[in-house]
Amino acid sequence: MEPTAPTSDAPITITVAHGDGIGPEIMEATLRILEAAGAPLQYDTIKVGKEVYTSGHSSGIAPESWDTIRKNKILLKAPITTPQGGGYKSLNVTLRKSLGMFANVRPVKSVAPFVASPHPQIDLVIVRENEEDTYAGIEHRQTTEVTQTLKLITRPGSEAIVRYAFEYAKAHGRQRVTCMTKDNIMKLTDGLFHKVFDEIAAEYPEIEAEHRIIDIGAALIGAQPDSFDVVVAPNLYGDIISDIAAEASGSVGLAGSANIGTEVAMFEAVHGSAPDIAGKGIANPSGLLRGAIMMLDHLNLDRLAETIENAWLATIEAGIHTGDIYGENSTRKVGTAEFADAIIERLGQTPETLTPAHYTDAEVSVGVHPTPRAEKTLVGVDVFLDWDESGRQPDVIGNALRELDGEGLRLKLITNRGVKVFPDGLPETFWTDHWRCRFVATDDTVTPQQIVALLGRLADNGFDAIKTENLYLFDGERAYSLAQGE
Ligand code: NAD
Repeated sequence: MEPTAPTSDAPITITVAHGDGIGPEIMEATLRILEAAGAPLQYDTIKVGKEVYTSGHSSGIAPESWDTIRKNKILLKAPITTPQGGGYKSLNVTLRKSLGMFANVRPVKSVAPFVASPHPQIDLVIVRENEEDTYAGIEHRQTTEVTQTLKLITRPGSEAIVRYAFEYAKAHGRQRVTCMTKDNIMKLTDGLFHKVFDEIAAEYPEIEAEHRIIDIGAALIGAQPDSFDVVVAPNLYGDIISDIAAEASGSVGLAGSANIGTEVAMFEAVHGSAPDIAGKGIANPSGLLRGAIMMLDHLNLDRLAETIENAWLATIEAGIHTGDIYGENSTRKVGTAEFADAIIERLGQTPETLTPAHYTDAEVSVGVHPTPRAEKTLVGVDVFLDWDESGRQPDVIGNALRELDGEGLRLKLITNRGVKVFPDGLPETFWTDHWRCRFVATDDTVTPQQIVALLGRLADNGFDAIKTENLYLFDGERAYSLAQGE
């Protein structure tokens, strides 16, 4: 979306959801601060969360609310309570995926020494891909012993998130973008993400680009979070490192987050609905307020975003703190409403020690280029069998399958959990009931009809084929992984 700067007489209508638990309290405080700062906003309110879940909507949102969100394009959402028990789908995942919010942006910045932090210099932003990876939620149980999930990494999805990370870095004066993947193991999926990162990094020579393997990268975010600037990662790694980074800052309760799509964007606090303190008037509204500040930045209301953030920083600096962050550098313990009052009193002030906020008018543009179609050649098939006979001896199944070679396909090898067990496997390898049998073309290519014929021969001989994966070359390059030991 390309937000347009509002004129003074044209307020922007956004959608607001007050949520559950402490949600209504912190939303009330946040909206009061926005109003006192003169934010040119008006609100359409929708209900999401516990009440909506228990009234029969399994995703926690009523059908009519979708229209409101899609019309206004901006949603400011307080945390909700997900009811216990099965059958309820995550509202956040439903919103993100249905509305194409591909980027989750989570800045983590310390306000030490006013709020104690083990890493007082931390100032990083995690940009997490929001829709793909193992979160596609495509899972199957295939045999008695084996389950699987599909990890989907796409070129357009990778391009959108990586470009967003660089655009975000450019617009926010950041120097470096670090990509984290496990492409030493997942050469096709994570390898694609890394390759797209390298391609897009070349378009931003003014920003330093680096790649780290996720395991050491995550360890470094925990140990030295102040050495990172912007970090971009696929969904699962991004989910994990967002929490590591927030934890390393020492104040999960202070963080806001944005979910950005090409049309719709959603802003919220990182924390949950804190039912243990709901209704007591003591919750810290900072997380939601910082989500709202990200929203103002997104709407190109930069001066307003600065004014509110600076007033918030000045309040933190003055030691006026809610109970969750009250410590040795605090001067006054306040509740939610008093904390909001203190921020309102400081509108127009800038912090003296902490770095004042500064937002620019730079647009964070989003978008992907169409992927040119690749030429695909079918060169074989992996057939997965559920087989639990003859003490699971690989030679028994291997020799039986070799009898079924013919019609353009021959058995090349069998693996169990990715490790070659036939021919010439090792007796130490553990065998489950799930066998990947790789049949390759005896000529340069094979036809789908020849694969179907092979499946027919397998069925006729009592083999239980539970899944197939075609083996392709794309533009002449092998587009499937080799087995361990192949
Ligand atoms: P939580 O973040 O709600 O609470 C964890 C702890 O932090 C609690 O002790 C709580 O009192 C404290 N806390 C959280 N926010 C605070 C604030 N603003 N001020 C002061 N203290 C604060 O996590 P949880 O207890 O695991 O989850 C509670 C509910 O929230 C669950 O139903 C969960 O599903 C939901 N949840 C919702 C969202 C969301 O809507 N985005 C995110 C996370 C969890």
